[in-house]
Amino acid sequence: MSELRDLYQEVILDHYKRPRNFGPLEEPMSKAQGYNPLCGDQVTVCLRAEDGVIEDVRFEGVGCAISTASASLMTEAVKGRTVEEAEALFERFHDVLTGQSEIDEVELGKLEALSGVREFPVRIKCATLAWHALRAALEGSGREVTTEA
Ligand code: ZN
Repeated sequence: MSELRDLYQEVILDHYKRPRNFGPLEEPMSKAQGYNPLCGDQVTVCLRAEDGVIEDVRFEGVGCAISTASASLMTEAVKGRTVEEAEALFERFHDVLTGQSEIDEVELGKLEALSGVREFPVRIKCATLAWHALRAALEGSGREVTTEA
């Protein structure tokens, strides 16, 4: 089980035990749910975006350590960023997890803590679940943001 111990690094355990931006968002403009049947992870991402900037983002749900930590890290990584920046970051993160990019080629910040997941293909869905939900929420909010602005 030493591989798993490597996988559950300190950052992951910290965000699993004390997830950031966890709980309902007041007056969310958009939300999307994600479900990973392989593991049973469920996550709901709520966000408020204005003028193409993610002003606030929170998540709720139950899942394994990887999915919860990934959702927590995701909210920290994208809050205050533009929608384009958040989508580009997901692309880079996804490319690292799926082995399409080398870890040291890509600037991931704290998200790099999850890069060990690449050795465990079945866990990639845990690590990307919240990001897929984020993308769905952003796509749903794209039009609403302009009508609300
Ligand atoms: Zn999982």
